[in-house]
Amino acid sequence: MQKILEVKDLRVSFHTYAGECQAVRGVSFHVNEGETLAVVGESGCGKTVTSKAIMKLLPEPPSEIKEGSVILFKDKNIVNMKEKELRLLRGSEISMIFQDPMTSLNPTSKTGKQIAEGLMIHRGMNKKQAFEEAVKMLETVKIPNARKRANQYPHEFSGGMRQRAMIAIALACNPSILIADEPTTALDVTIQAQIMDLIKELQKKLGTAVILVTHDLGVVADVADRIQVMYAGKIVERGTTDEIFYNPKHPYTWALLRSVPKLSTKNKSELYSLKGTPPDLVSPPVGCPFAPRCEYCMEICEEAMPYATEITSTHEVSCWLQHPMAPKVEVPNELMV
Ligand code: SF4
Repeated sequence: MQKILEVKDLRVSFHTYAGECQAVRGVSFHVNEGETLAVVGESGCGKTVTSKAIMKLLPEPPSEIKEGSVILFKDKNIVNMKEKELRLLRGSEISMIFQDPMTSLNPTSKTGKQIAEGLMIHRGMNKKQAFEEAVKMLETVKIPNARKRANQYPHEFSGGMRQRAMIAIALACNPSILIADEPTTALDVTIQAQIMDLIKELQKKLGTAVILVTHDLGVVADVADRIQVMYAGKIVERGTTDEIFYNPKHPYTWALLRSVPKLSTKNKSELYSLKGTPPDLVSPPVGCPFAPRCEYCMEICEEAMPYATEITSTHEVSCWLQHPMAPKVEVPNELMV
């Protein structure tokens, strides 16, 4: 498979009154054509900042891309692009859908018009052609009575329909990459499943690569080809979906997996929750950032940052437990599937 996006050593900071907050600290990864890469971690781990930095959607200041590159199709470095070039790129080659569609859609503009705008700018269609295409896109995202709906405002749509309309806007120009940032968080559970199925179906149909950003590992099991787990601005583990679910190596990944509700849990009232909070990234720790919350923490963990260890050609983990001198630790029982 061919790489279409490559992020190299990306570092993003926010200048705050408390000092420089290092939100993303040297993140490197790639996305292959047509695949789904899930980026998973709790709030504040840097996943949304990373995805917005890819689109160059972070306000500067207070944010700053300190270092690194975001290479699209081998030669275009998004980090160095001017706003004018970026506007042509966004929506046509790389698109994004957000957590809350109500704040992303324009409440004063009819939904069909909002879909049509991108088609007129990027595909050179006239108003009538773009509107007809917008109706087709609403049909593609399975909104009933598409023509009537195209003439309605976002407040006339339900939450699930608004997210479908956002997907229609994002995919109207057939981009190569879609970034979906927590696309189901604001929705009911049944609607969440429908939206994830829709993203999966459209991805297959259109061949779009998807970067799926979420805090919920349970959401990605069915959808992702590969998963990378982020903590405190760094990628701590990455692998294929099978490797992350059936052979996880990082204690933080274990914690995320233990937090996913399971139908088979004997005592239904007991749901694992990870204690403590992530470190302050204004003054990040020198050692492993997960150390204060890790039940396997050793002396070295607080003194030095663990380096990435290759488990297989697709599976990598940054944890001192992988060092040959480290004590052998059993994977928690409840993770055994
Ligand atoms: Fe835990 Fe140490 Fe591994 Fe960090 S390096 S996750 S503290 S065992």
